[in-house]
Parts: sequence; structure tokens; C-alpha cells
Amino acid sequence: MGCEKQKCIGQVALTFDDGPAYTTTPQVLDILEEHGVVATFFLVGQCIEAITEDILMRQIHMGCELANHSFTHGHLNRMTREEICREVEQTSAAIRRVAGVEPRFFRPPYIALNDLMYDTIELPFIKGIMADDWLPEVSPKERVRRILDNVKDGTIILLHDTEGNEGTVTALPDILAGLKQKGYQLVTLSQLFKNKGVDPKQKNYIWTHVI
Ligand SMILES: [Zn+2]
Repeated sequence: MGCEKQKCIGQVALTFDDGPAYTTTPQVLDILEEHGVVATFFLVGQCIEAITEDILMRQIHMGCELANHSFTHGHLNRMTREEICREVEQTSAAIRRVAGVEPRFFRPPYIALNDLMYDTIELPFIKGIMADDWLPEVSPKERVRRILDNVKDGTIILLHDTEGNEGTVTALPDILAGLKQKGYQLVTLSQLFKNKGVDPKQKNYIWTHVI
């Protein structure tokens, strides 16, 4: 995956939140395809509809991983146990129905967390290093810098393929080139945990680096 063995200094997992988005996600996938790399997509269940179903199939076909980012993108830390369950189960069901795969990871919207969520959601919780790429005032160049300055072996990178997030589409080729230049191989989250020999199921824990 674009990294010769002797040059590799580590593996990282690129992840995208808030899709599937019917124009931005295909743009992200085009860039990933051009670079021959994979990513993990944390999907919002209510965005999985007829117009975006092909996107999920393309993600699977490219070797990308699909994960769970709730159904409504609400604050799950303000919900009851039943509501939390429904948020997670409805999204996993939509991914299973459309793509035929079982999501293995969960990322809380807004990284808003509480004990009830840890208690209720069985999937491992994932965070990652961020570039504030949901803020229009953070330039593409700045997004590239924040990621490349903070990445290390085992890092999970959190970006957004939210509809209209052109700043991240613009930044992505430079992020990928920078990671390659630093000698990092890009793998899916499942591959990252497997290759590191780390069990993602840790009680009351949210992952940013897999080491
Ligand atoms: Zn989100």
C-alpha cells in the first residue's frame, strides 16, 4: 500500500466521520484510490439512503472499513439507555443491510461521552488526532500541518467527509503525500489493531493511538 517494506516506520489509520455524503465522500474516495490507500469511514445511519448506497459498496470494494457514528449524530451522552441502543443498532443494521459487513468500532458524535454510553455500547470507542477540519477558518494547509506534526506509529487520524467539506478534500492529497514521505503505511482500523497485536475491547477507554 504505497510503502516499501524497508522504508516503513509504522502504520496509521485514516478515518472519516459524518458520511456517507453524496458529493464529498466520492471526492475523498477518488483521492484515496489515486494514492492506492484505504481508510475507515464512521457512518451516520440516517445518511444511509438510496442516493448514498452505492458509496458504501464502493468503499467496501476499495478495501475500506465501515464503522458506526450513531444514527442521528445527536449527543448520546444526553440520551437514555434505550435511545443509545437504538442509535447504535439502527446504524449497524443499515450498514449490514447495504454493505453486508458488521461494523466493529464506534465513534461518539462530538466525542461526547459518559459512563452510560460505555456501559451500553459494546463496540470499542475510537477518537483520533484531529485538525479541527469542521471549522471553515482552518485552512487546508493548516489541516495538513496539524496532522503531520502530531502523527506517530499507531495513530488514528480523524477527518470529516461531511458534505461540502472542501478544505479537507483539498488537504487530503498533501496529507497522504506527507504520511508516505514519513514512511507510514495506511491501514484500516481493524488491520491496525490486528497488526499491533492489541485487543480494541478495553473497558471505559477511547483510542487515539494504538500502541
Ligand atoms: Zn461527527
